[in-house]
Amino acid sequence: MLRVAVVGSGPSGCYTAQSLVQRDPDVRVDVLDRLPCPYGLVRYGVAPDHEKIKSLQGNLRTVLEHDRVRFLGGVAVGGPGGIPVKRLRELYHAVVYCVGAATDRQLGIPGEHLTGSWSATEFVSWYSAHPDAVTQDFLRGVRSAVVIGVGNVAVDVTRMLVRDAGELRPTDMPQGALEVLAASGVTDVHMVGRRGPTQARFTTKELRELGGLPGTEVTVDAEELALDPGFADLAALAAVQRRNAEVLRDWAAAPPRNADRRIHLRFFLRPVEVLEEDGRVAAVRFERTAPDGHGGVTGTGRFEDVPAQLVLRSVGYRGVPLEGLPFDVASGTVPHLEGRVVRDGVASPGEYVAGWIKRGPTGVIGTNRPDAKETVTSLLADAPALVSQPVPEDPLPALREVGIEPVPWPGWLSIERAEAELGARLGRNVVKLADWDALLGAARSV
Ligand code: NAP
Repeated sequence: MLRVAVVGSGPSGCYTAQSLVQRDPDVRVDVLDRLPCPYGLVRYGVAPDHEKIKSLQGNLRTVLEHDRVRFLGGVAVGGPGGIPVKRLRELYHAVVYCVGAATDRQLGIPGEHLTGSWSATEFVSWYSAHPDAVTQDFLRGVRSAVVIGVGNVAVDVTRMLVRDAGELRPTDMPQGALEVLAASGVTDVHMVGRRGPTQARFTTKELRELGGLPGTEVTVDAEELALDPGFADLAALAAVQRRNAEVLRDWAAAPPRNADRRIHLRFFLRPVEVLEEDGRVAAVRFERTAPDGHGGVTGTGRFEDVPAQLVLRSVGYRGVPLEGLPFDVASGTVPHLEGRVVRDGVASPGEYVAGWIKRGPTGVIGTNRPDAKETVTSLLADAPALVSQPVPEDPLPALREVGIEPVPWPGWLSIERAEAELGARLGRNVVKLADWDALLGAARSV
């Protein structure tokens, strides 16, 4: 038997495990996760109102319930309290790191870390009930919010800021976040791109959804669209950009509806400073940019301040180095060759990567399937040499030796039951448990 550890139970980890057991009848896979809960960003990143995408959990579940796959939650790798990378390697014939991109990119502008300025990741973690979420205090006194960036995460957080709480009630959003959103006084959300609308990273389905939110209207400045050379010939654009441009053009032409809440989509504005008043965010200063003819932009020396009591920086995720694994600081990924980790310029059989830590934080969930497949092809090609390494029959005693007591699959099922019970008590559907004590209490109750 080839024994493989997959670190991370998000889409890339699950697709890696699936590909392994489908392609080799002699492989057993342990899927380890730092959290007692599986599914990674499908549970803790996909917005709660995107129920169709969330339902992918059902597919990932069948992988983790496969008879040659075992989920071990509560197992950190590297860092304080985690099993060191080197030790983990001794316990399995091969280890595949599918740890994603756990932090956010920085803007590097003054005021970025003022009170009231958060990364979109922090906001997403809060409404997704991540047990490491930092605060509840996002919306106190907030009427106007600025979202920096025009990718799909920016669209998600913008939508969550204006969505009617009644519509969120049927979701699995934690009760605390639902109550905060229900009491929200946010009337204006400015979602701002530094380049033009035809260079925005959002996809059309997600963009269109903003136009269908009850009680909310989307405003687009026709003059800003006109700054984009892409609008001169929409037919020459790639399909997504053309469809996005058509949606934006229609919104720019629509008469105002005097809705209670407004989403302002802005372009060609580069953030240069987050401004403060009484120690907290008061506005974001942007410099007007202009296309440079090569897909980028240049500053024009003209500035605009957009008032805001909340700033969400949604400028992309970034991988985090794992002690004991090589890391490329420029790309925020682990260097690899067809999924094999590269140490000192040489591919290192027995250690692999898949997903965002391999290719960077791009693509949709499905992108992880071919990505995982490539890594598994490399691993299975190396397998004849790898199985000659002696490994323990079961790595659990070695994990316990370093103080780790894994949460097994029945522990996760117990969390699921506790979330269903909580939902029933609150007169809602399933409601997520939002803190470590509640999660571990439920997991250990089996
Ligand atoms: P993203 O797609 O890479 O978008 C990042 C945005 O931040 C871009 O608009 C980028 O502008 C901007 N940006 C970067 N640095 C900046 C700076 N210094 N100043 C101002 N703006 C800056 O990242 P994301 O939105 O975090 O999404 C990550 C991945 O998850 C994507 O593949 C996304 O499609 C996926 N996702 C999908 C869904 C869905 O399918 N529903 C939902 C959420 C996330 P430039 O282009 O100018 O760099």
